[in-house]
Amino acid sequence: MSEEKFQPIPEVEKAILEFREQQKEKSYSERHSELGRMLNCPFCDRRHRSIEACVQRFAKDKNGVERIAKGHGHGRGRLTRHWNKRSLELVDLTHQLIPTYPEILNEDGKLEPDVKKARSQALNTLRKKWHKRSSKIQRQQKSSRRINRG
Ligand SMILES: [Zn+2]
Repeated sequence: MSEEKFQPIPEVEKAILEFREQQKEKSYSERHSELGRMLNCPFCDRRHRSIEACVQRFAKDKNGVERIAKGHGHGRGRLTRHWNKRSLELVDLTHQLIPTYPEILNEDGKLEPDVKKARSQALNTLRKKWHKRSSKIQRQQKSSRRINRG
C-alpha cells in the first residue's frame, strides 16, 4: 500500500464543488431526470412519476369491443360502475339475508349460498320500503298544495 494521499486536480475539485452547489437548488426530479416529474395520473388515480406510463382502459363487452367506442355513455363505459344509493341498499340487505336461506347445490355438485332467493327477498322488502317512503312524500305534497291553494 502506498502512503501517498489522493489529491484531486484543482480544476476538478472546483468543478465538483460547483456541481454540488447547483444540485442544492434543484428539485428531486431535476436531480434524477431519469425518473421524471411527479404527476397526478388521470388513468390510475395514483400520484406517481412520469416515467410510469399508464394507458386508459375501457370496459369491454362480451366480444372484447371497448364499450366507450360503441357510444355507451352515462358511466356505462366504466370498468367499475358507480353505485346508486338503492343498489347499495339492495347489496347490503342481500348480504344480511344470505345466511337465513339454506344452501343449494350448484352445477358442480357443491353447496353454495342461495343468493338468488336472498336477493329477491331483499328486493321485495326494499320495494315496499321505497314505496312507503314515496307515498308518504306524495301525501305531504298533496296536503301542502291544498293548504297553499287557500
Ligand atoms: Zn398512472
